[in-house]
Amino acid sequence: FVVTWLLRLLPRPAPVLFSGIGSANTLAEQLAILGHNKVLIVTDSFLGGSGILDGIKAVLDKNGTAYAIFDGVLPDPAFDQIQAGEATLRTENCDAVLAVGGGSVLDAGKLISLLHTNPGKLEDFDGIQKAKNVGVPLFVVPTTAGTGSEITYVSVISDPDTHKKVPVIDSKLMPGYVALDADIMKGMPPGITAATGMDALTHAVESYVATSSTPATEVQATAAVKLIFKYLTRAWHQGDDLEARDAMALAAFYAGSAFGRTSVGYVHGIAHQLGRVCHTPHGNANAMVLPEVLANYGACVHERLAQLARIVGIGAPGDDDAALAQQFIQAIVDMRVEMELPLKPKGLTQGDVPDIVEEAIAEAGSLYPVPRYMSEAEITGIVRGLLEAA
Ligand code: NAD
Repeated sequence: FVVTWLLRLLPRPAPVLFSGIGSANTLAEQLAILGHNKVLIVTDSFLGGSGILDGIKAVLDKNGTAYAIFDGVLPDPAFDQIQAGEATLRTENCDAVLAVGGGSVLDAGKLISLLHTNPGKLEDFDGIQKAKNVGVPLFVVPTTAGTGSEITYVSVISDPDTHKKVPVIDSKLMPGYVALDADIMKGMPPGITAATGMDALTHAVESYVATSSTPATEVQATAAVKLIFKYLTRAWHQGDDLEARDAMALAAFYAGSAFGRTSVGYVHGIAHQLGRVCHTPHGNANAMVLPEVLANYGACVHERLAQLARIVGIGAPGDDDAALAQQFIQAIVDMRVEMELPLKPKGLTQGDVPDIVEEAIAEAGSLYPVPRYMSEAEITGIVRGLLEAA
């Protein structure tokens, strides 16, 4: 629990937040106001060629802010991409970073900013508060509503040698400026909308049932759950529903605020292994095991899940906590079915199960403030269930 306590204790400078339609352009205007000469736009190749940056580029041009683009970020970014991005920042003489993308791009932008002022290898950042110097000023525009990376001081970087994801935790990774712009998210395909939305739901629920939850994180987590239950399937059905997109952007932000303080639980402990072994996208992996993990926790989470059920309007008068918890879990299953989320990780085999279980126990058991510890047999049951999923 050292990690949990450190997460609580780390200083957390709050970013300046812009939200609403057009807020990405408002954020881009700040670069000139703040006196930056040249900004490195960090993104991925799909988004770079999609036209999503057009409005931002137009604002930068209008205000005389020069820019260079690094679009080499891949999903689950590895350190070589961080080094390549930092090299572009250096050779192009940029004095700020503007990351526009999903969690992968935001995590990359955050570490590019820090690497520039703290030259080193991935091992030098692995852990908590390893960097000495503050990074280059960091501006972020999430294009997915899920990871909450825009409001966490975490950057998750893949190590190609060990095939593990390294969580770099440092308060200096907190972005200085964030724009939550639904207009930027309206083109997100249904599959990514569903997966990233379930990621946000997992953050909120795991934070709410964590033993480290506090009154402040409870407010954020419950606000996120409420928004997600109301708007996620709406955004999935109707991608250009800007009210739903706006609500989901806020939900992911609130959920990120909550789990950034409390940390997560067994859902993430298992999902990270599915990402490592089967390359299952993070949100999909969380969605595959969220209801199963919650059901397996059993009575120790009934009261908390019953509270969430009441908040989202599930249940009938007279239902006890166990019944409400069960209905809350079923509602997540229903949401998963409605959004046609995959239930089985591609390529998962019986032979992968022991490794996944061992690493999930190591990760969740040592790092996360889980409501109760699960046995090897329980986690094996959850992972084996994925093999049988349709
Ligand atoms: P992602 O950033 O990997 O993006 C997935 C795909 O969606 C990419 O191909 C991308 O081009 C595409 N995409 C993104 N926005 C789009 C849009 N608006 N329209 C169309 N396509 C779009 O996915 P993600 O789920 O946002 O991020 C996952 C990463 O975030 C993982 O590496 C995970 O470990 C990390 N993560 C970080 C934190 C944190 O606190 N830093 C928390 C959770 C997860």
